[in-house]
Amino acid sequence: MLDEIACTCDAGDCDRELTDDQCMLVYRTGHGERRAYECACGAVTVTVSA
Ligand SMILES: [Zn+2]
Repeated sequence: MLDEIACTCDAGDCDRELTDDQCMLVYRTGHGERRAYECACGAVTVTVSA
């Protein structure tokens, strides 16, 4: 599970794959779970899942 690809980097020309390994923050809101991933390029991508 650790190597599962969670999403790809949001930064315009990067598009690296982000895995659970790179997840540095998880928090829950009333609307679902948000996860912040830090890419090797330095950009942070936030995903939302219900
Ligand atoms: Zn990136």
